[in-house]
Amino acid sequence: MIDTKTKKYAISRWNAEFSDPGIEGAYSKHVESDTAVYLVRTLKIWAFLLLIFAWPDWLALGNSTGFFTLFALRSAFVCLLLALAFIVPRKPHWATWGWPVTLVAIAGYPLFFVYPYILPTNGVFGLSVMMMMLLSIYVFVPNRLGLTNLVAAIGVAMVTLNLVIAGSSISEIILVNMVLIWPVAIGFAAAQRINTGNRKAFMALLNAESANHTLSEEIARRKVLETELQRQALTDPLTGLSNRRQYELLFRRELDRHKRHGTPLALGMIDLDHFKRINDEHGHEFGDQVLKAVAEALQQPLRSCDILGRFGGEEFILILPETTLQQAVAIAERMRQALRAAAIIKDGQTIRITATFAMTGAYESDENISDMIRRADDALYQGKRAGRDRVMEAAA
Ligand code: GH3
Ligand code: MG
Ligand code: MG
Repeated sequence: MIDTKTKKYAISRWNAEFSDPGIEGAYSKHVESDTAVYLVRTLKIWAFLLLIFAWPDWLALGNSTGFFTLFALRSAFVCLLLALAFIVPRKPHWATWGWPVTLVAIAGYPLFFVYPYILPTNGVFGLSVMMMMLLSIYVFVPNRLGLTNLVAAIGVAMVTLNLVIAGSSISEIILVNMVLIWPVAIGFAAAQRINTGNRKAFMALLNAESANHTLSEEIARRKVLETELQRQALTDPLTGLSNRRQYELLFRRELDRHKRHGTPLALGMIDLDHFKRINDEHGHEFGDQVLKAVAEALQQPLRSCDILGRFGGEEFILILPETTLQQAVAIAERMRQALRAAAIIKDGQTIRITATFAMTGAYESDENISDMIRRADDALYQGKRAGRDRVMEAAA
């Protein structure tokens, strides 16, 4: 979570912007495309209004030099507005940057200030238009509030300058200023509220995004943990082979498949030969290392669908799906060879290890894993008696 109470997220009262330039920049970027679209629409409406207001000029002035002067000024300003409307979609950051629209707005002032000279009888109308314009630049034209303040201040200053040039009295000047301050104050308050509100919404969005991020990180962490727990619950910690819970589960699936589709299924028991000696000669800990190495060697000849589990102690269980007894015997033989070939080295001395294998296939009468294990176990016992290091085959 981000802390929006910090100074970084403070919003200035005067321009309704984040005091931190980085955050203000991120906000600008976030609203850039929307602001650009809105600004283009505004510029077009502005240009249209300017053009249709040529009509009252013509009514008042007819085809006079004054009318054509005003019309030329109007047209020049309309061109400027349309030029900006053309550029903004291509350079959307001009919309949030603020200066282009500010300069265009300021460039429109001369139009207002030739009015009193060309149409001196039109004072009240001119003042109303100026009021509407001041209100519009705050509420209607999307721009940075600080720059809008500048446009408004220049407007009020230019009206005052005009009044001074025209020789108006002090009270007249004060009165006009009082009238103009009114739309400026209203416009400022409205724009400030909109701008501040938008930035608060942006902060809420940042907060939600940050919370989402934290949450998805937590979910990912838990998933890893869950997978690890699942792995731990299903594997033997020493060898990493399937534990009883896992191989019994997998066996159940394979036996069902065998019964339903008649696909062959084989099971094998593996018991290491004279493993007690290894422990006695090298210690139990080394015995554990040997068990690990044996598990690795036994897995080598297996397919990914074959299941090798630790049955307990130095005994292993092998489940071979879609494998006939003959194929299982061949696989066991390869495993026996692989184990013989695996050299376990201790203190520069190579230790050889062998195992006795007993393989059996699934039969009609087999209802569960114990039925098959029992058969294999009997064969294993015979294998031990016959001299170990061999593969036995247990028929039904
Ligand atoms: P054989 O099977 O060939 O008849 O002889 P063996 O010496 O392997 O006999 P048996 O299978 O009965 O012996 C099991 C021995 O394996 C007993 C114990 O010392 C050892 N053993 C069993 N589990 C572990 C284990 O987890 N770690 C270690 N280091 N040794 C174990
Ligand atoms: Mg044993
Ligand atoms: Mg043994």
